[in-house]
Amino acid sequence: MSFPARAVVDLSVIASNVRSLRAHAPTAQLMAVVKADAYGHGLVPSARAAVAGGATWLGTAQMDEAIALRDAGVTAPRVLTWLYAPGAPIARAIEADVDVSVSSAPALDEVVAAARLVGRTARVHLKVDTGLGRNGLTPDGLADLLPAALRAQAEGAVALVGIWSHLAFADEPDHATVRAQHDVFADAVRLAEAAGAAIEVRHIANSAATLTSPQVHYDLVRPGIAVYGLSPVPQLGGPGDYGLVPAMTLEAELATVKRVPAGHGVSYAHQYVTPHETRLGVVPLGYADGIPRHASGSRERSGGPIRVGDRTLGVAGRVCMDQVVVDLGPDATEQAGDRVELFGTGADGGPTAQDWAVAAGTISYEIVTRLSGSVPREYV
Ligand code: PLP
Repeated sequence: MSFPARAVVDLSVIASNVRSLRAHAPTAQLMAVVKADAYGHGLVPSARAAVAGGATWLGTAQMDEAIALRDAGVTAPRVLTWLYAPGAPIARAIEADVDVSVSSAPALDEVVAAARLVGRTARVHLKVDTGLGRNGLTPDGLADLLPAALRAQAEGAVALVGIWSHLAFADEPDHATVRAQHDVFADAVRLAEAAGAAIEVRHIANSAATLTSPQVHYDLVRPGIAVYGLSPVPQLGGPGDYGLVPAMTLEAELATVKRVPAGHGVSYAHQYVTPHETRLGVVPLGYADGIPRHASGSRERSGGPIRVGDRTLGVAGRVCMDQVVVDLGPDATEQAGDRVELFGTGADGGPTAQDWAVAAGTISYEIVTRLSGSVPREYV
């Protein structure tokens, strides 16, 4: 393989992160959220690792990813998928033993029709918008939908196995909306159960709530980012504070190293100018590979961090489409071909995806999910 960079994913770390998360929510089952190609870590290998760590559920937004898990032979007891538009392959999902979320009356109609078509019972989770203002039935919408849902259940077309929601401020555990959404959710659960739905799992907790709001763990927690070892609440604590370790290391080989004089402009628009004679290294990763251009460096501020040997340096000048430059310093001994690390576990003070998120003014989720498919994933 000639691509001079790779994302190395430690699957045993994903498994141990799941074990840690289960210890944070000992009374609940755990759904590892593996949407968006397992947050860039690779759908199927990451899902298998999460199951090895004790996840009994897997969750995807896109139906195709849920079906792909089953097609790959992933035998997690349950897989849930939740985001689809009219015309989605619901029948395929039901046949693949995938649970389906329902967020609207038309979606219920489609699920019922698909279940009749394939002659199987669709396992349905009713999604309630308790205050995020995204997809999901309003509480009134739930009340309106329940009679039809229960008729479909009586007919055997669906089984109403889940009721669920998503928090707007999970990363601020003391925010009043956490309590307010919890109350709306509890009412919705009561309404569905009183109407006769035999709900198996109630779930509302993402990573942040799994780690910081035990009162909303219910029967099942649904962490995503924490499975991959990144903190959902960096303002409250890093991965180590929650027993997590980042699973992905992004590394590259220096493409070239050269000596330049003082006053040498670096990269587009010369946002960085060498303050003295120095050696510049070229790292063969750029924004086409998912390196955020907002993490560019300048005279005033060093860009996204890069570990070179035992030093952490920063991107010098603008991030380009397929390369960034790092000022190695006048006495650097590094040569073309030497390994550098953009982010990893953070051990020994090395940079993390969270550090890149800070440098780019974003969240760690964006750093790992936007890493392009052009960067080979390697599994250890
Ligand atoms: N549940 C739902 C519905 C989601 O959309 C997500 C991701 O955004 C998650 C759970 C997992 O969230 P997090 O990665 O913050 O744990």
